[in-house]
Amino acid sequence: MTTSIPITQVDVAIVGAGPSGLCLAGALSGHGVSTMLIDRQSRAAMAEPRSDGREIALTRASQEILEALGIWSRIAASERAPMRAARVFDGQSLFAMRLGPDASRTEPLGCLVPNQAIRQAAYAALEAVRPAAHAEVLWRDESEVKAFHPDDRQTGVEIRLVSGETVRAKLLVAADSRFSQTRQAMGIAAHSYQHGQQMLVCRMHHRKAHDFTAWEWFGHGQTLALLPVSEHCSSVVLTLKPSEMDALLSQPQENFDAEITRRLGRRLGAMTRVAEPHCYPLTSVYAEHFVAPRQALIGDAAVGMHPVTAHGFNLGLQGVWRLATLIGEARRADQDIAAAPLLHRYQHDHRLATAPLFAATLAITGLYTNDRPAARLLRKALLHAGDVAWPVRRLIAAHLMRPAR
Ligand SMILES: Cc1cc2nc3c(=O)[nH]c(=O)nc-3n(C[C@H](O)[C@H](O)[C@H](O)COP(=O)(O)OP(=O)(O)OC[C@H]3O[C@@H](n4cnc5c(N)ncnc54)[C@H](O)[C@@H]3O)c2cc1C
Repeated sequence: MTTSIPITQVDVAIVGAGPSGLCLAGALSGHGVSTMLIDRQSRAAMAEPRSDGREIALTRASQEILEALGIWSRIAASERAPMRAARVFDGQSLFAMRLGPDASRTEPLGCLVPNQAIRQAAYAALEAVRPAAHAEVLWRDESEVKAFHPDDRQTGVEIRLVSGETVRAKLLVAADSRFSQTRQAMGIAAHSYQHGQQMLVCRMHHRKAHDFTAWEWFGHGQTLALLPVSEHCSSVVLTLKPSEMDALLSQPQENFDAEITRRLGRRLGAMTRVAEPHCYPLTSVYAEHFVAPRQALIGDAAVGMHPVTAHGFNLGLQGVWRLATLIGEARRADQDIAAAPLLHRYQHDHRLATAPLFAATLAITGLYTNDRPAARLLRKALLHAGDVAWPVRRLIAAHLMRPAR
């Protein structure tokens, strides 16, 4: 006698329960769509994520989406730091391009929140969801996908997990980071740019106050940024070649603090490290396609931005909202939630929203990691043009403060 192995049915299977995957599951559950989240991590680790040192600069549009998903209210006020303005310097020059809201407006440019606080709040919001009928969220933690293929009738994807369980979903979504194995298994190629540098992030105390202004310096073989966390505490973001980074990280704290103070030109006085430093290799990734039959990419799996313009998660969240809205409309109209025209509309809109910023960020990183005299001159000219030409400043500030809808 043969026993048939049960197959789990779900509307959307999401590989990766990072910020993008968690937000997509939350948004879909509000549209009456069931999801399964598959992640290597345990649920205990997702509920209490460890600090990864990243301070995420959230735009107004992102804050609105997080509010709509019930995530924003779960982030403690003490975790949110307003970014009232930004100043961009070139090398040791004291001249800075200033970015800030109009005199007529008082809202900050954006808000800085630790990545771990976003992950924790997104997980808690999903746990608190009382799903509509047929919109439950299933978890497969400490798990991975072994193989998948669209079914013969092209009505769904059959997914086999490493546990042996078989799952049938109408749509499979890859949200498993910029190094996505799922994207690769989908046969979707990606343009990958190795910047040959590493980024260090670390909270430090300083004697002088920063007035909640973000500072960014370029040039002389390094880029350096200070992101306001509290009045006398900033997140230091330093980009260096791997050999220089290794040398810096091998120093005892006293020397590390002195070196960062020196690199900052003592602009905020003596700096003292107050948290573990974290280091990231810099790789930007842009997928050639965001969709395939009954498959889609979101978050960093679709667009892995260089962190210098602080837009990776902001763009990822826009994509999540876009895809969830299209799926919600299809569900309400009783149509296929993963039909090819729907997926292509998502791809078209998300490429339009991300390609210019991705290209501009690559150009900026190219310009600012180049120390040849011509590049230095061009940098200076651009900073002065940006500062004098108020429409340029206003455009960038408006982008940061633009509402979601
Ligand atoms: C230093 C730094 C600073 C940044 N600052 C900003 C900023 O200011 N503003 C901004 O908007 N963005 C910023 N970003 C970008 C932002 O952190 C990312 O865009 C965001 O974390 C992407 O979320 P994600 O869910 O797509 O991917 P990830 O956060 O990478 O999550 C991927 C998830 O997939 C899981 N996973 C991976 N592989 C598998 C597998 N094979 N099977 C199952 N599960 C898997 C992982 O466990 C993880 O939970 C910054 C990034 C860095 C590195």
